[in-house]
Amino acid sequence: MINGTIINYYFICKTKLWLHAHRINLEDNSEDVRIGKVLHEINENKVQEVSFENIKLDKITKEYVIEVKKSDSDIKAAKLQLLYYLYRLKQKGIIKKGRLELFEKNKQDKKIHTVILDEKEEARLLKILEEIDQLIELSAPPKPVFTNKCKRCAYYEFCFL
Ligand code: SF4
Repeated sequence: MINGTIINYYFICKTKLWLHAHRINLEDNSEDVRIGKVLHEINENKVQEVSFENIKLDKITKEYVIEVKKSDSDIKAAKLQLLYYLYRLKQKGIIKKGRLELFEKNKQDKKIHTVILDEKEEARLLKILEEIDQLIELSAPPKPVFTNKCKRCAYYEFCFL
C-alpha cells in the first residue's frame, strides 16, 4: 500500500521508490537521516505523532496537518506527501489544510508553506498515485540514474557499487 515515504520518493528517485515499496530497506546512517530523526524526536516532544492505517502525521491541529522537514531541498516531494495525507484524511471525512515547516540546517528559522487540497491538486495527486501503482508493479526496479542525491542515499552501494 502506498505510504508517505513512497509519495516522497516519487520526485526524489523512482528506483528508490520501487526498492522501498518492495521492502528492500537498507540501514541508513547518513547525516541527513540522523538530522531527520532528531527533528522528528524534537517534534514528537511537542505534540504526539498521529498514526492511522499506514500513515504517520507529524502533528495535527484543529485546522492543519503539519509536516516538519529538515530542509527545502525536496520541497516538491514534501508538498506532495502532505497533499497525500490531506487526501487520505478527506477519504475519512476529515478536511484539513496542510502546513509544511522547513528547518534549514544550522539555522533556528523555519519556512512555512500552506498546502491546500483543492480540485486541481487532487486531480494531479490521483494521476501521480496511478503512476506510482504502475511503477510498483514493475517486476524490477527502474534503472538507477546518478544524481547529486545518490551519495547520501542508503541505496548508493546497491545501485552503483
Ligand atoms: S542511489 Fe541514487 S539512483 Fe539509487 S536509489 Fe538512491 S537516489 Fe536512486
